[in-house]
Amino acid sequence: MVDDGTPPPPAADHPLRVAVVGAGPAGIYAADALTRQSEVPVAVDLVDRLPTPFGLVRHGIAPDHPKMRAIRDTLHRSLDHPLVRFVGNVEVGTELPLEELRAHVDAVVYTYGAALDRHLGIEGEELPGSLAATDLVAWYTGHPDADRATVEAALTGVRRAVVIGVGNVALDVGRILARTGAELEPTDMPQHVIDALAAAPVEEVTVLGRRGPAQATFTTQELRELGGLAAATVLVDPADLELDAETEARAAADRNATRNLAVLREWSAHAPEPGRTRLRLRFFSRPVRLLGTDRVTGVEVERTAVDGDGRAIGTGEFEVLPADLVVRSVGYLGTPLPGLPVDGRTGTVAHDGVGRVLRDGRPSPGEYAAGWIKRGPTGVVGHNKHDARETIAALLADAADGTLRVRGPVDDLVRTLRARGAEPVLLDDWRAIDAAEQALGASRGRARTTLHEREGLLAAVRAAAARGR
Ligand code: NAP
Repeated sequence: MVDDGTPPPPAADHPLRVAVVGAGPAGIYAADALTRQSEVPVAVDLVDRLPTPFGLVRHGIAPDHPKMRAIRDTLHRSLDHPLVRFVGNVEVGTELPLEELRAHVDAVVYTYGAALDRHLGIEGEELPGSLAATDLVAWYTGHPDADRATVEAALTGVRRAVVIGVGNVALDVGRILARTGAELEPTDMPQHVIDALAAAPVEEVTVLGRRGPAQATFTTQELRELGGLAAATVLVDPADLELDAETEARAAADRNATRNLAVLREWSAHAPEPGRTRLRLRFFSRPVRLLGTDRVTGVEVERTAVDGDGRAIGTGEFEVLPADLVVRSVGYLGTPLPGLPVDGRTGTVAHDGVGRVLRDGRPSPGEYAAGWIKRGPTGVVGHNKHDARETIAALLADAADGTLRVRGPVDDLVRTLRARGAEPVLLDDWRAIDAAEQALGASRGRARTTLHEREGLLAAVRAAAARGR
């Protein structure tokens, strides 16, 4: 504070302190945007509840997509910036109440994504053998909070799986289930994941769209990849590809739909091949309920037609698809942090269009949002760059016009956390985890094996600290 009590504008010796909540792509791009400018001196704490950075790049992008996962190398450069401090293993909202965090910094940027699965709201959804894609993805990427017992019980003995939804996550799940052990072997999946997937006797995976192929949200590159699996044949019913003139015309105006249809038409000539997994892409099928008593035995679907507005309309024709595993891949949902309201329907934080958080309809000073918690669960990693830049531009404009001021000396966040027995994981600690994962991978001839338990991650940190690094 200056003598008259007016908070000073940010300067090199008292920078604007910004906490970014969530060290996934949106958070890292936000940190990057903050440190790429020199108008407003900043110091950034990038806080994550996991001891590891990268969010969905680590625990979302499928492990059999190493090229996509390599984006972490680019993201790492922002983590390495001297004005950015990674503070992992700290849960904002519980371990570190939001109010307390806000008192420690001048601005908070929420970038914690959308971790919850959307529900279908149909009978049987909670039966054993019915999993949310988020559960399966967390498990196969080695997320420390994954429910191993439930997922592994659901996978045991699976011959026929149905994946509900035709987005890219559904394709990830269908592809991973249809892969052979040999295909999974070089990935960074934990060993128990590779073993469980290799042991599941999967013969058929059906990926189910409630609307038509022209409305599927998967992208062509991801679709096409299914055609290259070592021991699976993609099957498409030619009848699903007979579209009316209006749908054809609409699809022709949509590049992704046009390309998808071309790939699907090529595959519609395929026939099942003995000894190969059948990977069926089935459309116009709306799940009505999951059948079974002790565990899932099938999915009842209703045949649909798509109306002029692109909506699925039931035809009254029902059919049961036998299944001993059902994976619901119908989108993600953002959740509130204690102290931060989130719209229950959209799963997003109310904001002014460019990322200033609204409370009671008005911008809340010092609160911003970026990524999926701002715009909803759509888009690939790269979309977060523009999104985060937009939010940080609003934050910097607020700093420039005095809306956002440096509030004065406060205790250091990490010191405060440590004083109360928390174990924040900083950048060097993360490097120790990184090295331990690479060493574990090397011992099995792989580039990396993900450490999947929080204790294992923290043990790597403690071991490095004991060695004096
Ligand atoms: P998504 O693309 O929104 O797909 C959700 C799917 O669920 C849609 O097919 C949707 O059908 C269906 N669905 C929703 N409610 C349903 C219901 N009640 N019954 C049946 N089906 C229902 O979302 P996502 O697959 O979760 O992916 C999230 C984002 O991550 C996307 O932007 C995606 O592209 C991205 N991503 C990218 C990659 C990659 O680039 N490789 C990988 C994974 C994820 P309707 O269209 O009919 O609603």
